[in-house]
Amino acid sequence: MAEPDVAVIGGGLVGSAIAWGLAGAGKRVALLDEGDIAFRASRGNFALVWVQSKGLGMPEYARWTRASSDAWAGFARELREETGIDVAHQRPGGFSLALSEDELERRDTTLKRLHNQSDLPYEIVHRARLLKMLPDIGPEVVGGAYCPLDGHANSPRLLRALHTALKQRGVSYLPEHSVDAIEHRGGVFVVKSGTRTIETPRIVLTAGNGNRKLGEMVGLDVPVRPQRGQIVITEKAAPFLNYPVVTIRQTDEGGVMMGDSLEEAGFDDRVGLGVVGTIAERAVRMFPLLGSLNVVRTWAALRVMTQDGFPIYEESKSHPGAFVATCHSGVTLAAAHAKLLAPLIAGGGLSDDFTAFSAKRFHVPPAA
Ligand SMILES: Cc1cc2nc3c(=O)[nH]c(=O)nc-3n(C[C@H](O)[C@H](O)[C@H](O)COP(=O)(O)OP(=O)(O)OC[C@H]3O[C@@H](n4cnc5c(N)ncnc54)[C@H](O)[C@@H]3O)c2cc1C
Repeated sequence: MAEPDVAVIGGGLVGSAIAWGLAGAGKRVALLDEGDIAFRASRGNFALVWVQSKGLGMPEYARWTRASSDAWAGFARELREETGIDVAHQRPGGFSLALSEDELERRDTTLKRLHNQSDLPYEIVHRARLLKMLPDIGPEVVGGAYCPLDGHANSPRLLRALHTALKQRGVSYLPEHSVDAIEHRGGVFVVKSGTRTIETPRIVLTAGNGNRKLGEMVGLDVPVRPQRGQIVITEKAAPFLNYPVVTIRQTDEGGVMMGDSLEEAGFDDRVGLGVVGTIAERAVRMFPLLGSLNVVRTWAALRVMTQDGFPIYEESKSHPGAFVATCHSGVTLAAAHAKLLAPLIAGGGLSDDFTAFSAKRFHVPPAA
């Protein structure tokens, strides 16, 4: 391949979606990825395409999430047409369930604030009506918060569809290419991976928790940290869950996923029985029939988390042409990354709408 117009560094969901969009905009793209030793949130997530809890305190993020949720059906259709792979996207709306009145009230308070800030559509559904929508709830479930914009997809299949499409779009995918240095000479980035060197006028850092280190090479501050989440999955069962619940969803293949914890454990991605037990116990209280299903797998994976939980999208001031894109909801935002963000990077750069996503928001001195 001739030298690419853009090198995307990191081949998880964020990098793959952006590379797909860049190739769709006519760019010659190289996608470099570290390889199998890597930490990859994209291979261990819960696969919600979720709106109801996103963006309190940052209306731009709430809008961005909603734009992605709206773009998802078209994005999934395009992937299917291009690759024949159905990523099983559905948007029936989703629930967060409460096991006490107190929990339900707290949820309502948060969503009310989001509604007032960003016009989030939601309703509190009390037990009698909830039973009609989710007939298998247990006796302790008092109600739930429902948002019609929530949905889910099959995340491993999404990654496969993207990589299949990338090949068809002529993207040069370079696995086992961990980037160890990036230099900037005369407006050109020299990207180094072992003995290989790639020269390109534009780079996009999409290396998840690896972005912090890569960012330093091109004048970008990317304060992300790993945050562990554990997931439990059962054997396949007859369909019973008509809506995804924030901690429980039935996949298109029948298995039930239960998740997912929020743990500060550095780069330790081991499963811990205590957390897995708590996840399963709460899920069984919500849907007692889960108690009779066998658990077939558990795993832990590392989220890519910022201090405030919101994404970072930014172009380097000192190294123009170097972009970073990182977030903790790469499934939800895949459609926005592919259809909305990539065309901007392919064109003139990020619009003013993205100013709020700059890491400069973390550079405020602590209050006296
Ligand atoms: C338990 C859990 C549950 C989740 N649930 C959801 C959910 O329900 N919905 C949702 O939207 N999101 C969810 N997420 C988040 C979602 O998975 C992530 O936002 C998304 O996968 C991040 O993708 P990424 O491409 O930024 O990072 P990653 O998947 O971590 O990929 C980064 C890639 O960069 C590569 N890399 C790193 N350093 C280098 C380097 N120096 N050179 C080359 N390549 C490099 C790595 O090899 C890796 O492949 C969840 C995450 C976890 C852990």
